[in-house]
Amino acid sequence: MTDMKPARRPQTELIRGGLTRSAFDETSEAIYLTSGYVYSSAAEAAAAFSGDIERFVYSRYANPTVSMFEERLRLLEGAEVCRATASGMSAVNSTMMSQLKAGDRVVSSRALFSSCQYIIGEILPRFGVESEFVDGTDLSAWEKALSRPANVVFLETPSNPTLEIVDLRAVSEMAHAAGALVVVDNVFATPVLQRPLELGADIVVYSTTKHVDGQGRCLGGAILCSQQFADDHLTNNLRHTGPAASPFNSWVMLKGLETLDLRVERHCANALELAGFMEKLPGMRKVIYPGLDSHPQHELAMRQMAKGGTLIAFEVEGGQERAFALLDALRNVDISNNLGDSKSLATHPATTTHQRFSEEERAALGITEGLIRLSVGLEDVEDLKEDIAQALQS
Ligand SMILES: *Cc1c(COP(=O)(O)O)cnc(C)c1O
Repeated sequence: MTDMKPARRPQTELIRGGLTRSAFDETSEAIYLTSGYVYSSAAEAAAAFSGDIERFVYSRYANPTVSMFEERLRLLEGAEVCRATASGMSAVNSTMMSQLKAGDRVVSSRALFSSCQYIIGEILPRFGVESEFVDGTDLSAWEKALSRPANVVFLETPSNPTLEIVDLRAVSEMAHAAGALVVVDNVFATPVLQRPLELGADIVVYSTTKHVDGQGRCLGGAILCSQQFADDHLTNNLRHTGPAASPFNSWVMLKGLETLDLRVERHCANALELAGFMEKLPGMRKVIYPGLDSHPQHELAMRQMAKGGTLIAFEVEGGQERAFALLDALRNVDISNNLGDSKSLATHPATTTHQRFSEEERAALGITEGLIRLSVGLEDVEDLKEDIAQALQS
């Protein structure tokens, strides 16, 4: 959708993109922990507010450190505009709230991060927006839902926690024919592995809390979109509702981008090897990993993603009791609902992240009592293999 060519290759932009040095010529990017800015004269303040000059006026609008992060991520994604937000959920909420109004219609894949499902399924309908959920893997379900006009299509691929893949190109085509903009939550794939804008999507949202930080320190989010969407909807909404990213957190994200490519590559190598190993373990009912031949949508996954990703879902025999026993026996993997961390983290979706869903909804999503989601970290993969094997036997 954009014909802007990055001047440098992605790995170089991740290190150097967006860098604006201060008068002190620092090597590393500066943290501008300031909420406001001063003017050299009353006339300059007036000109800043009338729009005659462009400059920083207030950090709810823009901040130099936040802007460096936005520019670096924008270059990586190949978008016209990037706006950082305080969390992934504020990015999703602002993307939806800024463009939708009563009478509009949203079609979404049903396998979503549970807070995204809450916004689309609970909050939007309260404001007169109709929402419909479909099986994201079923193109005929999308076709049926999009045979009526819609305003927004929202989807996540691979999905949380069962790693279903949505065909970005096919769904984007159908969405556009129905008059909808396509919003992709690209958290699981990361900007390194999947480029939704090139596959037809209009807007990409991130929780940068996950792989962009990558070490579990800060919350953050980002929205990547066209200049037109920013001008028509997003900029004023963000300015006046205030989900602003903190300069400190944005600095952590900015520095996180420098190692993102390297880290994701290692996460994926570990995940692929571990998933292949786990498939052969006795007591393992099912291993779901898009990079394995056994994944039902392996071909599609490899067509739209550079690698299989950093997450594995697996199901043990013996339901919740065995799943809990396995989690409790892990030594080099922590029990945590977070993901995209250098530390391997495992969670039991049915009783944590997806507890809010009804039993029927969980069943439809494949979230069984024995299902565990594993965010594969950067540890030595041999230690991870040994740990999963011993925990499965405990
Ligand atoms: C974590 C996550 C979010 C929400 O992000 P926060 O930074 O926690 O607000 C949204 N979507 C997906 C897929 C996520 O994993």
